[in-house]
Amino acid sequence: MATEKLHIVVGEWYWGATCPECGEMAAHSKGDSEKPGEAQVTMTCANGHRFSARTENLLRFEWGAQ
Ligand SMILES: [Zn+2]
Repeated sequence: MATEKLHIVVGEWYWGATCPECGEMAAHSKGDSEKPGEAQVTMTCANGHRFSARTENLLRFEWGAQ
C-alpha cells in the first residue's frame, strides 16, 4: 500500500497520534474531515519512525500547538 505524503501546515488540524519511539506528534490525515475509516492506520513521525495506531485512538490536534 502506498502511503500518501501529507503536506503539514502549522496551525492546521490533523488526525494523528504520538510516536511511541520519540513522543513527537505524527499526522495521518487532515482533521477537517471525518476520522479515517480504517480500523488501523500507519503514519510516519517527523523523525521518520513508522508506526501504526488504532483509529479509535487517533487524536485531532492542531499542528505546532503541542
Ligand atoms: Zn518518532
